[in-house]
Amino acid sequence: MNIFNFPTTIYSGQGAIEAFVNTLRGEKLLIVTDAGLRKVGLVDQVTALLDQQNIKYAIFDGTHPNPIEEDVIQGAEIYHQQHCQALLAIGGGSSMDVAKIIKIAVSHDGPLQDYEISSAGAERIINAMPKLYAIATTAGTGSEVGRSAVIMLKGSDHKNIFFHPKLIPDIAILAPEMTIGLPPHITAATGIDAFTHNLEAWLAPHYHPMADGIALEGLRLILEYLPIVVADGQNIEAREQMLVASMMGATAFQKGLGMVHSLAHPLSAVFDLHHGLSNALVLPFAIEFLENASLNDQQKKRLDKIQQLFTEAGLAKQTLSQSCHAFIASLGINFGLSKQGISKDDLERLSQLAFADGCHQDNLIAVNQQDFYAVYQKAL
Ligand SMILES: [Zn+2]
Repeated sequence: MNIFNFPTTIYSGQGAIEAFVNTLRGEKLLIVTDAGLRKVGLVDQVTALLDQQNIKYAIFDGTHPNPIEEDVIQGAEIYHQQHCQALLAIGGGSSMDVAKIIKIAVSHDGPLQDYEISSAGAERIINAMPKLYAIATTAGTGSEVGRSAVIMLKGSDHKNIFFHPKLIPDIAILAPEMTIGLPPHITAATGIDAFTHNLEAWLAPHYHPMADGIALEGLRLILEYLPIVVADGQNIEAREQMLVASMMGATAFQKGLGMVHSLAHPLSAVFDLHHGLSNALVLPFAIEFLENASLNDQQKKRLDKIQQLFTEAGLAKQTLSQSCHAFIASLGINFGLSKQGISKDDLERLSQLAFADGCHQDNLIAVNQQDFYAVYQKAL
């Protein structure tokens, strides 16, 4: 017996925002975003369309890049004060994560901690929640089709996860014109996050042929379009394909993620490193670890299939880990955790946190804390 969940209504391509706005039926929206997006005018692009249709809204633009509990509390306060009825997240993963948890906060009592996954919080998410619409402004997290949200609660030293099937946005909007202004280094880092989602979903050792099919096509799209879009951010076709591949990665990773994400999460939590960059800096070394492990034929085939995609894209090196290393480097990402202020003395703590992270439960093979230490050491 298997349970497959596939995502939500998706509006994709140029004109997607207009099409979405035309579906709105007068509920007042709380727009959840960050100050940076507001400053560059992306929020104005959306509100201009809302104004045209006479849709009312309030704006919370205080989301932090690595969101904290206070973001949710402030957003929920505005939601209540302004009598909002639905949420519209405009952003990358951070604003969407905050909006998802605001959904919980405005419809459930008590501290947010009670609804976190490690407190079996999903079982307490029982009340009706407001609708959430999500406009993606980066192609990476795929949070617009995700059922989980991550913030740091007060007094916590790790990221706290909230999960519930009803946290998935009701409509996800993939409008490439929202991502054309992203600078190459953010395009590269977020693109590698999407790459990692597809890759880890494909490698996760569970039966999920639908997720597998999506993950492989997601990888193929990224190998084709990420180099194009890093070189030419104005390429609207490549921007659209990257948004789709990112959404596919997050759709596929309901199958599971793996050790790369467990290695990446502490780098963001402790050193505030960008999530996509964190993945990029450790991914080839995690793949190298897998290549050197004793794998059965099925596991080897999983790795070989990814290398085959590199070959088809004309990007293969001798081994998969070398292909990944060269691909990431070609996007302008400089390897070396030490360049990010991380020293050998930090690796013990990082490995502890990586081992405590849940993602590696779905890794191709089991990993222990020493394995994490060894991979960090190579990535240093
Ligand atoms: Zn990720």
